[in-house]
Amino acid sequence: MNIILLGPPGAGKGTQAKRLEQERGMVQLSTGDMLRAAVKAGTPTGIQAKAVMDAGELVSDAIVSGIIGERLDMEDTLKGAIFDGYPRTAAQAESLDTLLSERGRQLDFVIELEVNEDALVERVEGRFTCANCGEGYHDKFKLPKVEGTCDVCGHHEFKRRPDDNAETVRTRMAEYRAKTAPILPFYEAKGLVRKVDGMADIAEVGAQIDAILDGKA
Ligand code: ADP
Ligand code: AMP
Repeated sequence: MNIILLGPPGAGKGTQAKRLEQERGMVQLSTGDMLRAAVKAGTPTGIQAKAVMDAGELVSDAIVSGIIGERLDMEDTLKGAIFDGYPRTAAQAESLDTLLSERGRQLDFVIELEVNEDALVERVEGRFTCANCGEGYHDKFKLPKVEGTCDVCGHHEFKRRPDDNAETVRTRMAEYRAKTAPILPFYEAKGLVRKVDGMADIAEVGAQIDAILDGKA
């Protein structure tokens, strides 16, 4: 099964993608994570992308579709791909169709996380992740069970993203509204869109997604 999780920054895409990886053996394909890895490694792509990401704007379609294509050639993605943060523009949606059909694969669902934008700044500002395994947490909504210790890998260091500040989040939301939300009709026309209430708590959002994947919604 191949699915897209669609929603603005802070909607809960990464949180749900990581859970689906752990519970269903699917594979999270987050272009944001891949770009951050490229920035950290200092690759030509990373050097080019860094300023754009720091400003909350979108990296070029050619770059992100290129890295998704390379990732789809890795065999683990045959277990089922969860596209998280991709596609973000109409051109990327077209590219994804081509990348999948060239490999004899197809999309099963586009799951839209419906959220109230007013809540997202708080979600993004409180976000932090395990510096070792990348598990996501929140200062208020999802603290580690044992303070200072990652629930998943037991590591003690955490990190925050430089673009998770109120000002950049506003730009990222505007980019979502202008360029990403308009791709929904493309997928609606294909009958792929399913909506979940992204304002519910993390477990409830997960239950709604599971019902869709299990054909019960
Ligand atoms: P995205 O990947 O869509 O940008 P994340 O999954 O990283 O969003 O979630 C943003 C922050 O909000 C994280 O700190 C996460 O722990 C928290 N979060 C995710 N889903 C919910 C939810 N349903 N209710 C409250 N907080 C949430
Ligand atoms: P994310 O981790 O999904 O919040 O993405 C962080 C940043 O990476 C975004 O604000 C963009 O600058 C960049 N980015 C991630 N995915 C894409 C994409 N599909 N298209 C363009 N830019 C992207």
